[in-house]
Amino acid sequence: MHERRRKFYGWGYEGDTVSPAETAEFESAWSRLLGVDHFEAVPFPKEDDIDLRAPRIQAPASLAAICTTDKFAYPRTEEDIVDLYDWCGRHNLAAIPYGGGTSVVGGVNPPEYDRYRGVVTIDLKHFDKVLEVDAKSQSARIQAGVLGPSLEKQLKPTGLTMRFFLQAWEFSSLGGWIATRAAGHFATAYTQIDDHVQSLKVVTPSGNIESRRFPVSGPKNNGNVRHPHRKVSSSAGYSLLAIPATLAAAGVPKGDSK
Ligand SMILES: Cc1cc2nc3c(=O)[nH]c(=O)nc-3n(C[C@H](O)[C@H](O)[C@H](O)COP(=O)(O)OP(=O)(O)OC[C@H]3O[C@@H](n4cnc5c(N)ncnc54)[C@H](O)[C@@H]3O)c2cc1C
Repeated sequence: MHERRRKFYGWGYEGDTVSPAETAEFESAWSRLLGVDHFEAVPFPKEDDIDLRAPRIQAPASLAAICTTDKFAYPRTEEDIVDLYDWCGRHNLAAIPYGGGTSVVGGVNPPEYDRYRGVVTIDLKHFDKVLEVDAKSQSARIQAGVLGPSLEKQLKPTGLTMRFFLQAWEFSSLGGWIATRAAGHFATAYTQIDDHVQSLKVVTPSGNIESRRFPVSGPKNNGNVRHPHRKVSSSAGYSLLAIPATLAAAGVPKGDSK
């Protein structure tokens, strides 16, 4: 299937633009509001404007199939992630998990300092499946790289919804939500990702962590520091972890107004 290309700069897919009529409407409203006559259009930067330096590192033959030359890695299995961490650890390379790339605080940017010999960005886009649904307990086991729309599409036939809608829902991932402890502004009651997470499996450079599954009880559970996955949630910035599969509550039936 043809994969739509995300815009290099700005929100959305290539080809999705604001029409001249919409721009004119905005300009006229903002002119009135700000008391200015006109706005100067600033051209978008283009990919061609950027000169990337030559890659400083080369993937070993065993990882070449899942790495691009500029060191984006696209693991397909948990073992791939372990191997990537192993390579990064042995050669002092920074490993940055990448979900949807919507971080607004530089979470997926390469570090600017020279502590590392290079950077490997680990894109989890192939970890995009709902693995199991338990309709009775209204929960699901879901891989971390799934983006919001695909998650809802996969849950829909089961009659469940994650009911977690942050503003960046369209292009952000479950793993990113957990790592940044995201809050869904377009929902009421169960608005924080912690309200949904029952258990996590985490691959780290020094071994896997899998927390035992505990039911969650919505916002009331928020202060429950005994959950081991609380250490992982909100860990963005430490960057040395990836969450290939999670057990997250998906349990609010459609139409429930609680
Ligand atoms: C227009 C816009 C609206 C937004 N609205 C909201 C909002 O309503 N609520 C809100 O909370 N935030 C919002 N954000 C911020 C952002 O969308 C969230 O932080 C989101 O959770 C990031 O998810 P992502 O998949 O894009 O993560 P990324 O940007 O890919 O990564 C964010 C951080 O998480 C780490 N990470 C990502 N995936 C994994 C993984 N599988 N394992 C371990 N670490 C991982 C990355 O290394 C990085 O440090 C918004 C951003 C934009 C641009």
